[in-house]
Amino acid sequence: MVLGSLVASLMSWKVAEEYLEAGRKAGFFIKAENGGLRLVSVEPGSPADRAGLRAGDFIRNIQGVPVHNGVEYDEVARTFRMAQPVKLDLTRDGVFLHLEMRPGVPLNWFPVFLVFLTVLAYFLLGVVGLLQGPEDIRARLLFGFSLAVAVEMAIPEFNYGPPGAQILTGILFFLISGLEMALELHLAAVIPKTNSWIRRYPWVLRFLYISAIGFGLLAAVTLGLEALGVSWWPIRSSVLYTGMDLVLFPIWALGLVLLLGYQTIRYPTAQGRHQAGLVLVGMFPWTIYALAGSIYPGFYQAISSYNDVALSLILLSYPVAVFFAIFKFQLFDLERIVRRGLVYFTMTFVLVGIFLLVFNIGAWILSGIGFEKGRLWLTSGSMLLLGMLFSPVHTLVQRAVERRFFPERSALRRHLIDLAGELPSFGDLPAMGHALVHQLKDIFEVESVSLMIKRPGTSVFSPLASTIDEGRQSESSIQILPEDLPGLNFVGSLRRPVLLRQLKKRDGKLGRALADMGVNLVLPLMQKEELIGVFLIGERASGGRYPAEELELLNLLSHHVATSFENARLFESATYESLTGLLRREAIIALLQQEIKRAHRYERPLSVAMADLDRFKEINDSYGHLSGDAFLRRVSMVMRSCLRATDAIGRYGGEEFLLIFPETRIEEAELVAEKIRKAVGGLRLKERQGNYFGTTISIGLAGFELGAENRPPEAEEMIRLADEALYMAKAAGRDCVRRSP
Ligand code: GH3
Ligand code: MG
Ligand code: MG
Repeated sequence: MVLGSLVASLMSWKVAEEYLEAGRKAGFFIKAENGGLRLVSVEPGSPADRAGLRAGDFIRNIQGVPVHNGVEYDEVARTFRMAQPVKLDLTRDGVFLHLEMRPGVPLNWFPVFLVFLTVLAYFLLGVVGLLQGPEDIRARLLFGFSLAVAVEMAIPEFNYGPPGAQILTGILFFLISGLEMALELHLAAVIPKTNSWIRRYPWVLRFLYISAIGFGLLAAVTLGLEALGVSWWPIRSSVLYTGMDLVLFPIWALGLVLLLGYQTIRYPTAQGRHQAGLVLVGMFPWTIYALAGSIYPGFYQAISSYNDVALSLILLSYPVAVFFAIFKFQLFDLERIVRRGLVYFTMTFVLVGIFLLVFNIGAWILSGIGFEKGRLWLTSGSMLLLGMLFSPVHTLVQRAVERRFFPERSALRRHLIDLAGELPSFGDLPAMGHALVHQLKDIFEVESVSLMIKRPGTSVFSPLASTIDEGRQSESSIQILPEDLPGLNFVGSLRRPVLLRQLKKRDGKLGRALADMGVNLVLPLMQKEELIGVFLIGERASGGRYPAEELELLNLLSHHVATSFENARLFESATYESLTGLLRREAIIALLQQEIKRAHRYERPLSVAMADLDRFKEINDSYGHLSGDAFLRRVSMVMRSCLRATDAIGRYGGEEFLLIFPETRIEEAELVAEKIRKAVGGLRLKERQGNYFGTTISIGLAGFELGAENRPPEAEEMIRLADEALYMAKAAGRDCVRRSP
């Protein structure tokens, strides 16, 4: 807003100055000669011609003021007003004449309009950069560069002096040009992404800034000293102007063409190539102009009468191309720009409205009580009020804009807040995980969501929940991720959603594994400084990109989730076993004791099973312990999926599981055990080399029907009986179910 008013006031000053200047034009060329001003030529039909001036006349006095040279003429001419009579004393062939001239020619609006258009276009480009937000380096550079151009174009020209103004505009020209040069080259180096060469040699950028801004400062100092009449300074300003035209402009232009040309040809994605190409096209007219100026020394003079028009058209091509790149090839996030634009526009409106309302009501009250002097207090009070209202109004307007113009997005936000809020009510981690992945998949409309978490005390991430169905999962999904993978460290250090293509650069192996799973985005779950989990989010169902706002929402959600998880995780680590997520040995035995008591009191049946994987040692020996662990985890999931909600399962030993079936006779339990045996026996996992492996399972059963008169057995006794049955199953050749006699 401040910058807008700055540029607008400069621009209106410029237009006013142009208008005044048009009003000062007399239509002659003058030259200082013999202590007077000789008219070199008089334009036919001009104010001078109409007043009767002829070439060869000498002007002596204007409005009674003697004039001897151009500077004095300009000084007097500054007082001319359009069509107001001016008294001239002149000599023609030695004869004194008194004439009256009415200066002023109609302003040629076309060039002024073009300049206005150019300033507006660059200003809007700057606004785009501002609205895009400061996280994006390209947006910051675009903002700086565009505003510099807008300001440079909007600075008035002072063709009729005062001399100080001309020097000042000269100084500003050099300062701004130096800045523009550095910013524009830097910008060209980061479209569409930071040039790999620049990333390797970051000092190039520093050198660029120092030399470009240094040149601007040097030139500014030179002009300033020259104006003060200092003679010892070794540099002349004419040298600088020539150097600018002959050396700096061409370097600048060639640098732009090289940087953008390289990306246009070599950038890996088509969209990136188009972005760079379009910006290059937009800069092209200017580079041609600058190069032509350096190759033909007379070029700038030759086109000087069309210069305003030509330069405006040339400069306009750049914003046009950039806007095109934004709309067509998503150079910037358009939706975000529109959203922020709406928010700030509305806010300005609301705040100014409030200010006027408060001020006017206050002024009315003050005049009512006859306390006119209170105006100063009123003004500062109103300003203070505005300052205090800024933040709440911002929030309100933002919400209103979201609800009005982006209803899907605000619905999304509400969904996520609801989801985060209800997480703890799911109770345990697996249930939370399950709810999260399925809801996220629906809310964000993505192909798949998986959640891997690190159990306390372990150094690997293991799957907690996934929307990828069981059948596909065994093919491609990742079973565990060691915590020291470079890719995971990278995600943990960034603490925000990371796109797969960014991750691939850091950790090709992990990147490829995730790509096989169809993952497109990795969202970290951070607890303080520690990475405790990752969401693996698949492609969008629509195939599009993730807008920045959605990534922000995801990031916000991940903080809530991390907190809920940490609480649940701490609780569970005491109860659940970390590798498989099943109950620990102590917990399942405690549960068995409880169930025995209950079955005894209500005289209900109860069965237990002991299951042991067959020849599991061979899997470890052939494929390594990690593959063995992965298999154990899968077996646990499969077994659990075969059970009813009231059944329970715990990890009794390394690859031994204890199952409890309340309300179940041994015959019924046998059916479940068979189901488990078949499911586990059919399970195949892919190991690193791509081989599929699996094994069978043997199960021993024990069951009791307790009458009130019987003594309830000890848990140990039931376990021993089931164990004996298991031994029988092993002895019978494994891959079978046996009952205790
Ligand atoms: P079988 O039961 O059919 O007689 O043969 P087995 O090879 O399975 O023999 P046993 O039940 O004695 O196997 C114990 C093996 O299980 C030892 C070890 O290699 C493996 N094991 C136990 N706990 C774990 C674990 O947490 N992870 C991995 N990877 N392997 C485990
Ligand atoms: Mg075994
Ligand atoms: Mg065993």
